[in-house]
Amino acid sequence: MISLHGLTKEFPGGVRAIDALDLEIADGEFFALLGPSGCGKTTLLRTIAGLETPTRGRVAIGGVDVTATPPGRRDVAMVFQDYALFPHMDVTDNIAYPLRIRKVPRAERRARAAETAARLSLAELLARRPGQLSGGQQQRVALARAIACHPRAFLFDEPLSNLDARLRLEARTFLKRLQRDLAVTTVFVTHDQGEALALADRVAVMSGGRIMQVGTPAEVFQRPASTFVASFIGSTPMNLLPGEVRGGGLRVAGARLPLPQEAAGLPEGAGVVYGVRPEYVDLSPAPRPGAFAGRVAVLENLGTAHLVTLEVPAEDGEPPAGSEPGGATVQAVVPEGGEPALGEAVWAAPRHER
Ligand code: ATP
Repeated sequence: MISLHGLTKEFPGGVRAIDALDLEIADGEFFALLGPSGCGKTTLLRTIAGLETPTRGRVAIGGVDVTATPPGRRDVAMVFQDYALFPHMDVTDNIAYPLRIRKVPRAERRARAAETAARLSLAELLARRPGQLSGGQQQRVALARAIACHPRAFLFDEPLSNLDARLRLEARTFLKRLQRDLAVTTVFVTHDQGEALALADRVAVMSGGRIMQVGTPAEVFQRPASTFVASFIGSTPMNLLPGEVRGGGLRVAGARLPLPQEAAGLPEGAGVVYGVRPEYVDLSPAPRPGAFAGRVAVLENLGTAHLVTLEVPAEDGEPPAGSEPGGATVQAVVPEGGEPALGEAVWAAPRHER
């Protein structure tokens, strides 16, 4: 278990990379730190590892305060983006290096390196040097080196970012299976929301050194706590439209929508941001109630589906505050074969329960 209490890290020059952060990561959990560049993910990971000293706050691992414990004694293994392998050492020596530092006898070192290498399908490559390995193989050597020490936690800093798209997908599945087999607490830094959702048991979405939301992938996807999380999560961004409470319902981009649970109790005229994912917007060629009336402006092929971008003209009368004068843009994902034609007039109905 990793617990962070009131953790703050300020760098010289007044940069507050982590801001009074509290977090509990459960024993055996696969936990992702997700957020845009510069939000403090790497600094947080390095602080857990002991490579950065917090300005304020505490770090505990397994219930023991390690805030003042040097990195080598925290019993955690960190895998960096560039793998940090030793170019002059072969695979065996690279994997066994941390064991050598810990003065594990040579025979045991070699046995543990060979056993871990076999687990990661590196057995044939033990005598090679990093320069003679592919990116994916180097990544597995870095993982093997981390695993061989039997640490209490793994800390991964974008370990898949150097791999090409296909290898990255393979490595992702591999990493997930490995973590499940070993059941070692793992903290994984990524700016790739797809990777975080696919791998993690729980995700923390960060911004400006703070945690905006912690939850399971389904929670942050289905129930984002803020418009920041809503727009950051999802392979196609969520539709976020200005709206207003009117006559017991919502008025959004010219459509009258039933009042969602989240808006219950808001007074007449209250402004809202209405959010619905493109995956939960259904298109029809005929008018229907509770739908945005628009015209197809862009069609993008996603492989097994199409992303349809609609232009919804500005409404007559008094539009909700914050509405674009030229009208709104609404996106919908429609299954292959169901896509409308460019320029066609369509009605886009958001699924109320979503
Ligand atoms: P990325 O995804 O780009 O790696 P990140 O979320 O990991 O970003 P950090 O590397 O943790 O972000 O940086 C957080 C903030 O702290 C940034 O504003 C960065 O410029 C600043 N920072 C990081 N390290 C230092 C340092 N050694 N000295 C001063 N400022 C730093």
